[in-house]
Amino acid sequence: MSTGKINVSVENIFPLIKKFLYSDHEIFLRELISNATDATLKLKHLTAIGEAKVEYGSPQIEVKIDKEGKKLHILDQGLGMTQDEVEKYINQLAFSGAEEFLNKYEDGAKDSGIIGHFGLGFYSAFMVAEKVEIITKSFKDEPAAHWTCDGSPDFTLVEADKTERGTEIILHIAEDSTEFLEDSRISQLLTKYNKFMPVPIKFGMKTETLPKPEDAKEEDPAPTQEVDNIINNPDPAWTKQPADLEDQDYKDFYRELYPTQFEEPLFNIHLNVDYPFNLTGILYFPKLAQDISIQKDKIQLYQNQVFVTDNVEGIVPDFLTMLRGVIDSPDIPLNVSRSYLQADGAVKKISGYITRKVADKLKSLFNNDREDFEKKWNDIKVVIEYGMLSEDKFFDKAEKFALYPTVDDTFFTWEELQEKIKDSQTDKDNKLVILYASDKDAQHAYIESAKAKGYEVLLLDSPIVPHVIQKLETSKEDISFVRVDGDHIDNLIKKEDTQISKLSDEEKETVKTAITDAIASQSYTVQVEAMDSEAAPFIITQPEFMRRMKEMQQTGGGGMNMFGNMPEMYNLVVNANHSLVSEILNTKTEKKKQRLIKQSFDLAKLSQNLLKGEDLTNFINRSYEMIK
Ligand code: ADP
Ligand code: MG
Repeated sequence: MSTGKINVSVENIFPLIKKFLYSDHEIFLRELISNATDATLKLKHLTAIGEAKVEYGSPQIEVKIDKEGKKLHILDQGLGMTQDEVEKYINQLAFSGAEEFLNKYEDGAKDSGIIGHFGLGFYSAFMVAEKVEIITKSFKDEPAAHWTCDGSPDFTLVEADKTERGTEIILHIAEDSTEFLEDSRISQLLTKYNKFMPVPIKFGMKTETLPKPEDAKEEDPAPTQEVDNIINNPDPAWTKQPADLEDQDYKDFYRELYPTQFEEPLFNIHLNVDYPFNLTGILYFPKLAQDISIQKDKIQLYQNQVFVTDNVEGIVPDFLTMLRGVIDSPDIPLNVSRSYLQADGAVKKISGYITRKVADKLKSLFNNDREDFEKKWNDIKVVIEYGMLSEDKFFDKAEKFALYPTVDDTFFTWEELQEKIKDSQTDKDNKLVILYASDKDAQHAYIESAKAKGYEVLLLDSPIVPHVIQKLETSKEDISFVRVDGDHIDNLIKKEDTQISKLSDEEKETVKTAITDAIASQSYTVQVEAMDSEAAPFIITQPEFMRRMKEMQQTGGGGMNMFGNMPEMYNLVVNANHSLVSEILNTKTEKKKQRLIKQSFDLAKLSQNLLKGEDLTNFINRSYEMIK
């Protein structure tokens, strides 16, 4: 028997560990199962290369609760340790690892939430146990060892009579941690951290229903049998080669990851690199909820099939955090703060790689089945538009697959759109004018009138569209976006056959003065234009730049506060070719003229939802008067 002092300067590890890692107690189980897994896989490797001459078999890890004895057991059939190895790996290495960890975290960095790969390791057992025992038998021909420690630096190490190879860790659960003696709690932890670990993990037994024998009677109950309750899937889809997986396998795996998700994913992206870093995983594009902030099933981060976190901020570019799935990489440093992570070279590469893969996948989906891609566009556009805004590389790649749908559901790529409108929609400086609507109902009249003139009108209705437009305008040359109800399009777009005006310039001036005086409002600038006689007599537009300033402000454009107090400003475009306008010009009685102008103006306001309060009441009263 040997007793001794573990060689550390920290006098009492137990209380320190408790204090420093208070919030993260539950990770002890992940740590111990990771060690058991490592021990099993090490043995597998040694047998494979002929270093260990033992039967590898099909080893399991087992977790057992002894409620009465207040103990939790973790057993493995891995390579085990000799007494010397316990001395070396547990007393010296594991303790020094723990000490180093504590020193590092004493000054406050402890809230990173993640224990380094995992940093504390074996000693995390002392977060929940007042005493820990290791009973272990090495695959080498040496007696078993029994180590006991109560968290103080004193330990005992004696020979044991264990005969089967492997290690048993026994935790004497502390008074304040008895939750870890509950089946439900352990089961929950195993599902959270160990669901995809590579060695089968047994936790109790379960009843399995067998098929009825051929000659069974209708009323006979189906036979059952007790089998090991294996809580994990040791071969999750992401560890396999894409070539070995069918579409259905990906869907099944999605269900395995998110058992409560009802909708099927739209498509998936299998990640698989080993140079210059290691990374595997499967990302899914879900059907996005209308409110993207409530996206609750998140991407899960694993390290060698051990769950680490579902907070992938900093590792995955922001715009992709709306996706779901799994990323597994041993190369992501886990025990450091998030801000450090963002500056880390390896992490930057990983983030760049993921962005590229997602772009490539989108492009191939587009190329292989455009019709299907168009159908999915509405569900994926927010992610793509957000990506175009936030990642320049993605913006460049998206040129090939980002779509610009019209109000009539024709989908153009950027190039196709240019081609389509290059002869018909240019302004006086030969810039392309891209017309768009953001709301089919609210802008109905304007859309119809633009379409009647043969223009293409895009439907751009996602919440970040103002930003996307700005981005496109600053990065592409000679284009400008104009909303259909923005600056009057007849003034903007060059036309071959310009409308001939029924009114002379002088008459236009007279009408303009009459209307300006009658409406008596600072907010409206009156313009008289020769338009199609079928078009409305009065049309209200809001100058494009004004509306955009306001939109940017609302969606957090920043630095636009100087426009905060700007009054509302509109254009009132009067159609010189409309018969009503001729009537206004020719009416002799002042009273009738006033009434014609006021009524037309109010109707124009009404169609833009701008008629409110007293003006609306007056309008309604006046209308009743007129139909009497
Ligand atoms: P790490 O796993 O990062 O090496 P730990 O503190 O978790 O650090 O474990 C320290 C060492 O103890 C391991 O490297 C291993 O050599 C040994 N060890 C721990 N658990 C087992 C086990 N179940 N079987 C065999 N060896 C183990
Ligand atoms: Mg470990």
